[in-house]
Amino acid sequence: MASDQAPASFLTLRQRWSQSRMALLTWWGHLSPARQDRMAMMVPLFSVLLFLAAIATSFWYLHNEEEEREQESIKRDIELVHQQMRLQLIDAQEHWVQMSHEVIAHHITPAQFLTQAQQQMRSHPEILGMAWLDAERHGRAYALSTNPTNATPPPEGLSSAAEPSYLSAEPPASHPASQAFQRAADTHLLSYSEPFAIEPGQTVFQVHLPLVEHGTLTGMLVADIDVEPLLMHAVPTEIAGRHVLSLRNSQGEVIASTAGIPSHAIRPPTRLLSYAIPFAPVGPSLQLRGEGYRTSPNLIGNTLFWMVVALSVLTVWTLFGTWRHMKRRLQIQRTLVQETNFRRAMENSMPTGMRAMDMQGRITYVNPAFCSMTGFSEADLISYLPPFPYWPLERIEENSRLFQQELSGRTPAGGVEVKIQRKDGSQFDARMYVSPLIDPQGEQTGWMTSVTNITEAKRVRDQLTAAHERFTTVLEGLDAAVSVCTVSHGELLFVNRSYRMWFNTDPRWHALLAGQQDNLPTTNPAKQAENIDDLGGLSITELTDAGVDSHEVCLHAMNKWFDVRARYLQWTDGRLVQMLIATDITERRRFEEQAALQAERAQVSSRLITMGEMASSVAHELNQPLTAITNYCSGMVSRVKAGSIDQDTLIGALEKTSRQAQRAGQIIHRIRAFVKKSEPQRQEAKASQIVENALELAGIELRRRSVTIHSYVAQRLPSLHVDPILIEQVLLNLLKNAAEAIDTAQMPKNRRHIELRVTPRHKPDQGGMIEFSVSDTGPGMKDDVAGRLYEAFFSTKADGLGIGLSLCRSIIESHQGRITAENIYNGEAISGCRFSFTLPVGNLADSSKHAAQ
Ligand code: ADP
Repeated sequence: MASDQAPASFLTLRQRWSQSRMALLTWWGHLSPARQDRMAMMVPLFSVLLFLAAIATSFWYLHNEEEEREQESIKRDIELVHQQMRLQLIDAQEHWVQMSHEVIAHHITPAQFLTQAQQQMRSHPEILGMAWLDAERHGRAYALSTNPTNATPPPEGLSSAAEPSYLSAEPPASHPASQAFQRAADTHLLSYSEPFAIEPGQTVFQVHLPLVEHGTLTGMLVADIDVEPLLMHAVPTEIAGRHVLSLRNSQGEVIASTAGIPSHAIRPPTRLLSYAIPFAPVGPSLQLRGEGYRTSPNLIGNTLFWMVVALSVLTVWTLFGTWRHMKRRLQIQRTLVQETNFRRAMENSMPTGMRAMDMQGRITYVNPAFCSMTGFSEADLISYLPPFPYWPLERIEENSRLFQQELSGRTPAGGVEVKIQRKDGSQFDARMYVSPLIDPQGEQTGWMTSVTNITEAKRVRDQLTAAHERFTTVLEGLDAAVSVCTVSHGELLFVNRSYRMWFNTDPRWHALLAGQQDNLPTTNPAKQAENIDDLGGLSITELTDAGVDSHEVCLHAMNKWFDVRARYLQWTDGRLVQMLIATDITERRRFEEQAALQAERAQVSSRLITMGEMASSVAHELNQPLTAITNYCSGMVSRVKAGSIDQDTLIGALEKTSRQAQRAGQIIHRIRAFVKKSEPQRQEAKASQIVENALELAGIELRRRSVTIHSYVAQRLPSLHVDPILIEQVLLNLLKNAAEAIDTAQMPKNRRHIELRVTPRHKPDQGGMIEFSVSDTGPGMKDDVAGRLYEAFFSTKADGLGIGLSLCRSIIESHQGRITAENIYNGEAISGCRFSFTLPVGNLADSSKHAAQ
């Protein structure tokens, strides 16, 4: 039964132990690392402190026990010594009693007393002297010890018969000796005196033995007992070795000691273990005291104790040091873990494949990017030697060569381009960069290769190259000269074929095209610095945002005209540059000049034609003054011949003739001015003046066609900047057309009327302007005619040339004006036609720019 129980309880014990262990491990596992650290620190610290406490307690216990033992030993020794001292005294006492009997019986003389006393003193060194006194305390005989062992030898010259110094004079009644004498005399019993000093360092007590004869005191035997020999002879050597024994008087002063009086007299008695008993025969005035020598055992105990304390403190200090070291290590470890995690995250997130190899070329590491790039897993690659599975079969030789190059560290710093085959068989272009792997000892342990998939980059590069080629081809193929020049140094950064062809990469042409005749780019740095200032302190952005500046430039040296578009750009290197696109427009300019010339000629022709058309009217108009002149002249001639004319009448007639001639001359002058071929000339002109001139010429035609006109010119009109002859021509054309329309349609008299109005207008998009409108009461225009009015050579008239309105429009538009035509309605019916044109007011300098160039 008992044998069954034992394994069962053992099992339970084992189970409990494993359960507690598990619980402890679980608890430990749940602790945070910081707490685990603290615990790991605290447990040894606690153990050390516990150990220190145990040591301290043991020391304290041992110390107490030792003290008790010591105390016991002192007590025993003291009692032994006490016994010994008593025995010595009792022994001496027996002799004295015997001597007292002999003295009382008168068997001995003082001389014999002295002899006996001397004998006793020799056997009892503590007896310093003996005296036989009578009842009045007068000495009968004295004997002093001559024992060489006596601590205080008798003074020089003191014979054994001489009286002791302390007895030479009658001591006072308070002296211990007197008190003891008196007590013995009174009681007739043996009496001990209190100890008293007879010499410095020598203390004695006296034994008084009364001599009583028949009940009467006849004398006294007195013995001086020196305390020091008494003690010395009672203390065995081994006790003296163990303890300090001393005799003390009632004041506690040491009067005899085994260790010598002077040193022990000053020692504080309380610190040491001690035991004291009164010396029984003398009484409490003489104390026997024992003190333990505890110096050396204490020293060793203390040294041990303090060594243990010091070691414990050292251990705690070491623990703290270890803990701090651990903390630092933990911090470093944490930083390392962070660093590792950071690097791993970085490595995992980057698209660059990483592959490490040892010095033999065995793959030791591949990162996830490398795996996903190639499609092979880590297991497919790690610890493999070449040929690697991602080498394309057809390129094994080339790859082996590159691999050897890699192992020998001769891979170019810019990397090598390779083809990599994925697990699925597809291939891609990659660039490999190789760098040596160095361990902490500075020794190379292998090679690290980074692999970048450059398929996309290559595609982009190819596309970029193609785009660049296209761009270059387009630019090179352009008929326009393209040039890019730095603003600060006038350095030509780019020119295309046309520029090279015309200007031969000379930057000064760029400056000329840009219109910087006075500020050609130069190699003079001071001048270049000034060029920078020419930007007027504008920032690059302000300049680049300014947009395109377009102008036309004539390079007289080449006799060419260019349409130049300039804009500021920020070049690829950040510098501010000016780009010019100069298109050769010499041909266009020539054509334009010819067209302008032709237009001018056409205008003049048109004016001549108009005049031609108006020739009959003009002839008719001129006929009147000429007829009048003729009539006046014939009348005057006949009346002069007849002599029937007086001077006043003649003068009147001549004046009339002259006026008619002037009128004819004025008509001719106006016509000449109108048809005269002259350069187009813009000038400040008043609308009223233009209207007046136009009406004068048109009036001839209107009168012939019996059409009336009413004109209205608004007051205070601003002046116009126009060529007045051309505007007059337009007005004349419109008035003539109106009159022709009325006349051709043979309108009745009440509908043979034209209205000319000149009024100011303002349009938000065009600004201030003056509107001229010519309204007639003719038949108006049909829709098909209205759509083709301004076509050259379009006419509905049998003899019409159809260039009038087309010229009118080009004249008006060249003055930045607009011409419109519309029918006038009276209800549903057309009641006439209105032609109107506008001319802008103000400075038309812009329009003159082209002409100036
Ligand atoms: P032409 O007078 O030589 O025919 P224009 O260019 O001056 O040439 O006029 C073109 C045509 O416009 C005319 O043939 C005519 O049909 C029409 N036209 C011009 N002015 C008027 C008007 N006031 N009323 C009706 N039709 C007009």
